[in-house]
Amino acid sequence: MSNTALPVLQTQPNAAPQGASDELKHLKPPVDPAKLKHRDLLGGTFWQKIPAYREISEATFLDHSWQSKHSIINPEKLLDAVRGLVSDEFIADAKVGFSRAPMSVRVSPYLLSLIDWTDPYHDPLRIQFIPVGSRLLPDHPKLGLDSLHEQADAPVPGLTHRYPDKALFLPLDTCPVYCRFCTRSYAVGVDTEEVEKVQLKAKPERWQRAFRYISERPELEDIVVSGGDAYNLRATQITEIGEALLALPNVRRIRFATKGPAVMPQKVLTDHAWADALTAVVEKGRKLHKEVVLHTHFNNPNEITAITEAAMNKLHERGIYVRNQSVLQKGVNDTVETMRLLIKRLGHVNVHPYYVYVHDLVQGVEDLRTTLDTGLMLEKHVRGSTAGFNTPTFVVDAPGGGGKRDAHSFEHYDRDNGISVFTSPAVKDDQYYIYYDPLHLLPSDAARERWKNPTEIEKMIDTAIAKARGQVRP
Ligand SMILES: *Cc1c(COP(=O)(O)O)cnc(C)c1O
Ligand code: SF4
Repeated sequence: MSNTALPVLQTQPNAAPQGASDELKHLKPPVDPAKLKHRDLLGGTFWQKIPAYREISEATFLDHSWQSKHSIINPEKLLDAVRGLVSDEFIADAKVGFSRAPMSVRVSPYLLSLIDWTDPYHDPLRIQFIPVGSRLLPDHPKLGLDSLHEQADAPVPGLTHRYPDKALFLPLDTCPVYCRFCTRSYAVGVDTEEVEKVQLKAKPERWQRAFRYISERPELEDIVVSGGDAYNLRATQITEIGEALLALPNVRRIRFATKGPAVMPQKVLTDHAWADALTAVVEKGRKLHKEVVLHTHFNNPNEITAITEAAMNKLHERGIYVRNQSVLQKGVNDTVETMRLLIKRLGHVNVHPYYVYVHDLVQGVEDLRTTLDTGLMLEKHVRGSTAGFNTPTFVVDAPGGGGKRDAHSFEHYDRDNGISVFTSPAVKDDQYYIYYDPLHLLPSDAARERWKNPTEIEKMIDTAIAKARGQVRP
């Protein structure tokens, strides 16, 4: 064994004082601590570089009600807040983007402060929340609203029962932020300042019907409380939903899903009623030997700051387990370096990377999608870089209601025309689910040409399914 490697940067911290037998043999040089970027979280009064927040103190910035009250839900006001920081061309471009975007807008001061306005075109947070006209691309020809068939699988409005033992409960339809890439754009975010107040009200009858359905299905054990977003549930509503579900003997696991920690971690720190209500449901569940956890949604390492760390520390101290689901997006997290940093940083703040979704087919965000192949490549490079339990599964939520499939489990994948075929035996035997790569990322113009011809499209799909069929084992 060669042993030429010595600690490079430290002044021999491991040098044995005497006696060669005590000397530690480093087979590799220790990593330069400056390279452990996942531990290097943005702190200080970073928001004060935004003119509108120059005078805002830390106490104010950490106040969740200040964050909510100053969240910007109007494109004009949003662009006003950054005027002077960005070029007029960018402002004009974003105006076009907003006029063509099918989603509502909501950006917290925290989020606004995390965007690098000196380079807005490349900023991973800007890309997720603020559309610009010049980057928009035509939708894929096979795209439809509600591509996941959530409504088709809904026995009660706002309750999707697709998988054998789990269901998705959508108690409300508002969010603390509106994401360009949202899969539920058919449902969430229809708010203006007035509509919002109405929507935030409890809808007891619909909720009661959902609870009753769950109680009548002994096979249902696992309930995802999503939305909209659990951040927008009042403390009393967290308690109401949590207690109603925990009271059902068949329900063993509950997840409250929220994007909140990624866009407004302040709430965890300063909305004491909300945090305490969640904690009480988790503790009650624990006594009943049921699991209640939080699922959240970080997509880029820049979303994790010292404020996030403080918020996640608080949840950790209270024994609240947090898992993360990311959406793979071009320019946001589609490189090995960024994805590894995201995964390591999540682990650092005790958030467990659970899934990375290959972007669903959603209207108006073709610029955000990547190919399945990108997902496969990233998975290969991420796995092995940290603990296996902190390594996410890369999944495709198969259009047509097949549910989530391991990205590697396709029966057939033609990288040239971007068609991949999946099966989902536990959900529906004998059915093929197809995912389509975005056309602008296909490797050849010839393939793009074929996608312009409806007859060719049907031929490509038929061929893909035939090939998949040959592949499927009994
Ligand atoms: C994602 C999802 C679930 C939860 O699935 P997991 O793989 O257990 O995270 C449940 N129901 C629906 C409809 C879903 O889309
Ligand atoms: S927070 Fe979730 S549900 Fe709300 S817009 Fe974003 S992705 Fe959609």
